[in-house]
This record gives sequence, C-alpha cells and structure tokens, in this order.
Amino acid sequence: MSTKMLSFVSVSQSQPPRRGAAERRNDFDEIYEDFAPEQASTQASRCSQCGVPFCSIHCPLGNNIPDWLMLTAEGRLEEAYAVSQATNTFPEICGRICPQDRLCEGNCVIEKGFESVTIGAVERYITDTAFEKGWVKPDLPVRELESSVAIIGAGPAGLAAAERLRAAGHQVHVYDRHDRAGGLLIYGIPGFKLEKDIVARREKLLEDQGVIFHLGQAIGTGDGEVTLMQLREQHDAVLIATGVYKAREIGGPGSGLPGIVRALDYLTVSNRRSLGDAVPEGELDATDKDVVVIGGGDTAMDCVRTAIRQGARSVKCLYRRDRANMPGSVREVKNAEEEGVEFVWLAAPEAFLGDNAVTGVRAQRMRLGMPDATGRQSIEPEPDGLFTVKADLVIKALGFDPEPLPELWEAKDLEVSRWGTVKIDRERFETSISGVFAAGDIVRGASLVVWAIRDGRDAAAQIDHWISERASASASASLAAE
Ligand code: FAD
Ligand code: SF4
Ligand code: SF4
Repeated sequence: MSTKMLSFVSVSQSQPPRRGAAERRNDFDEIYEDFAPEQASTQASRCSQCGVPFCSIHCPLGNNIPDWLMLTAEGRLEEAYAVSQATNTFPEICGRICPQDRLCEGNCVIEKGFESVTIGAVERYITDTAFEKGWVKPDLPVRELESSVAIIGAGPAGLAAAERLRAAGHQVHVYDRHDRAGGLLIYGIPGFKLEKDIVARREKLLEDQGVIFHLGQAIGTGDGEVTLMQLREQHDAVLIATGVYKAREIGGPGSGLPGIVRALDYLTVSNRRSLGDAVPEGELDATDKDVVVIGGGDTAMDCVRTAIRQGARSVKCLYRRDRANMPGSVREVKNAEEEGVEFVWLAAPEAFLGDNAVTGVRAQRMRLGMPDATGRQSIEPEPDGLFTVKADLVIKALGFDPEPLPELWEAKDLEVSRWGTVKIDRERFETSISGVFAAGDIVRGASLVVWAIRDGRDAAAQIDHWISERASASASASLAAE
C-alpha cells in the first residue's frame, strides 16, 4: 500500500471551501468550491484502504472508492479519473448532490472516532480536473449497429442509459417534453447545488457521442405528441425513464387560494430565470414576500433556499415532525439556517387564510408520540396548539407520485403497481410490453440521482443483451430457412 495512505490519524477532515452565507444569499452559484490540488490529495490520503470497503458497498454504483482515493493521494489523477468514470456516468454530479452522509461517507469505517473521508468532494474534484485537462472524451462506439433505441426522458436515468447504449453502437434517440436535457438536474435542483453548465456540458458530450435528442417532444396522445406504440414500432426497443411528477396535494380550508403553489412549478421558473429564459413575473416569485414552505424533504430545502436568494422578506419551513425525524439532508438544513431560513418544527398546516389570495397559514402544534410498528415515532396534536403564520406565498413541497401512464398514454397493456410505478422484471428491466423497458424514478418512485444512474446503466446492459439475442435468433432462423 502507498505510504501516503492512512493519514486519518494525523490529518483531520476538511471539506472544500464554502462561501459565506451573506455572499451566497445573493446568487444561485454553487456554495462549495473545488478542493485545491494539495488539499484533495491530503484528504484522499486519510483513507485506510479497507479490505472490505463499506463506502463502496453503500454506494449505489459500487464505485471503486479506495482505488481512486489512493490514486488521488499519489497525484495520479488521470488514472483516478479512469477508475472513477468506469462505474459512474456522471461522477462530478454525484460528487455534488449525493446525500453522502447516508451513503458512502456515512458508512466509511473511520467515521467511528474520526470523521469520514470526504469521498464526494474528492470524486467531484477528480472529474472537474479531468474536464479542465481535456481528459473527458465521448465514448465512441467501435462499430455502428443498425438497431435503434428510443429513450423517453432525458433525466439522469435516460441519459446514463443513452451513454451506455451509444457506446455499444446502437442508434440512440432521446425524447423529452422539455426544451433542455437533464430532467430534474436542470429544472428541479437549483444552481446553488448543481450549476447548470455542468449539466449542459454532459448534454454536449452525449451529442458528440452521436446521441440524437428530440427535445420539446412529449410522448402521449395529445396534439403533436408521439404515442408509446408509435415509438415501439419505429425502434428496436424503448426505455421509459420519465420520472415522477404528480405533486402530492394538501387539503383543508383555503387550500385553493391564489398564492399557494407547487414546489416544482416554483423551482422550474427559478431555474429557467437563472438560465436566462423569459419567465412570467408574479405568483412564482418570492421577492419581498413572506414565504412559507410546507414539507421536510430535499425539495422543501431547495424551495426555502431559493426564496432567500430571490429576496423574500421572511422564509419559514413548516414540518410536522422534528429535526431528528425529517427526511431532508442534515447538511442542507444547516446551510438553509445559515442563510436565514427559520424552521418551525412539529407544525402541521390545517387551514389557509385570506379572501382573494393567501395571507397566512393556520397550523397545529404537534408532539411526538409512541413509536409505530416501523419504529418511527407517531405524531399527535398538542392541546390548544393552534397558531398562525403570516404568508403571501405558500409553497407545497410534500413529495411526488407517478403520473398515471397507462391512462395518459392510452397504453392499457403497460402494467403499473398500486402506487402507479411502472412494473418491470427486476433482472431484465422489461415491462409488461415486449421490447419496452423502464428505469429510474418511474420504477422506484421518487428517489436519488445516483440510483437513476445505476438503473439507467443496468437497463442499457439488458436492452443491449435483448437486442443482440433477437438479432442472433433471427440470423439462425434465416440460416435454417436457406
Ligand atoms: P427525471 O430526472 O425526473 O427525468 C425525467 C425526464 O422525463 C424529464 O426530463 C421529463 O421532462 C421527461 N418526461 C416525463 N414525461 C415525459 C413524456 N410524457 N414525454 C417526454 N418526456 C417526458 N436527488 C439527489 O440525489 N440529490 C439531490 O440533491 C436531489 N435534489 C432534488 C431536488 C428536487 C427539487 C427534486 C424534485 C428531486 C431531487 N432529487 C435529488 C431527486 C432526483 O432529482 C431524482 O431522483 C432523479 O432526477 C430521477 O431521475 P429520472 O431520470 O428517473 O427522472
Ligand atoms: Fe458517494 Fe454518490 Fe459518489 Fe457513490 S456516487 S461514491 S454514493 S458520492
Ligand atoms: Fe477508505 Fe473509508 Fe472506504 Fe475504508 S470505508 S476504504 S477508510 S473511504
């Protein structure tokens, strides 16, 4: 083993420099900077090169983390990049937005007693450097195949599949209803977590690889839309990677008042504004408003922090459980608090006030009760716990469910689960329609970018196998007929 490693006993954990809260409140740029080269190599050298690396086991992509840490510690960055990109289609994106505390870093063995290796920041540094040095090249196919694959959805699942299928030589067509590729990477996740040129850079690389994009093309049965079965007829295989977009709603008196908006509508407009698009002013803008965001997940965190940057008068996040029980990342809550967000824990909205537009939220103070069968503490109302919060913009961030694809697409043969997710054969990724595959959030339900990448890569391998098996079967049939 390299003598450089195991330095965790003498070198403490340090993250890349983070911009101060006062500065970052004013823009949508990322809040973390890249490591300086010597800091990356010193931090990578803290790894103890475990024989059984729990970091890799808990990375959905099974990244070969100890190897690229050692190569980084030794300054062999081009080799580190080669190892890192062998298992991950978008390492610089995962390094930025994976919830590392729940995945690789949260399972790093030196976490016990010492702080974990800063795996995500090193992963980001390796690929950012590779882009800077010109080492990142499109993976061009060694031979062109006649077979073509349609991918519906240009989110991380669809793009990861496109990259693998194209590298194998298939003609790959990606269809998306939006005008830009990236899915939630471009229109959901704000720039302060993932700057948009990082996503656009990947789109360009895929184009250079020969992937054909049909942007602004929705699949469905409406005017100008292409149906699923038309795509199936035009291509040898189809992959559905459409994500989940049906926002969970909130009821109660006043819930239909103007000024109460959905999180993704709000974030999409903000992202479009950052991209320089003309967007309507008004309801979906937090400037000079008292903003209340309802929810405790990552989408809620993105909304509160966007509202701060838009110059809201006040920003409060109402969540019905406490800090310890919220689903959002601890790191993001800390960032949000530093930026000026006020969290109102144990608060459940029960009515929205106002005549022509929302003016406030009436909420019920909650308390934690006994754990339920899953071990999670139940919640119950505090007696006399009603209170009111002033609001002229309320953002609902309660999560997403799948859109009802069989009805929307008039594809009754497409089987879905009782939650509406598309059913697949777990090994083959194939749906109930022959030659139609599915991957990403539309199969798992709302999940993570890293899982979408994993599914896209695995589905691509299965599609490649399916197409080549059929090609061999038809070649044997023709030989037999001769
Ligand atoms: P998507 O990214 O949703 O992409 C699906 C694509 O399909 C979209 O481009 C859509 O336009 C297209 N599409 C849908 N229907 C059609 C149709 N009928 N015709 C044509 N195109 C269609 N995950 C993390 O790991 N870290 C984070 O920090 C994080 N933050 C998040 C913040 C927000 C606000 C949200 C909403 C999610 C966040 N996630 C995060 C989750 C992550 O973004 C998703 O799990 C991931 O993007 C799913 O990838 P996907 O490719 O399955 O779907
Ligand atoms: Fe960690 Fe995500 Fe990178 Fe895997 S892909 S090593 S979980 S940051
Ligand atoms: Fe290195 Fe931590 Fe992974 Fe062990 S678990 S190989 S110390 S990063």
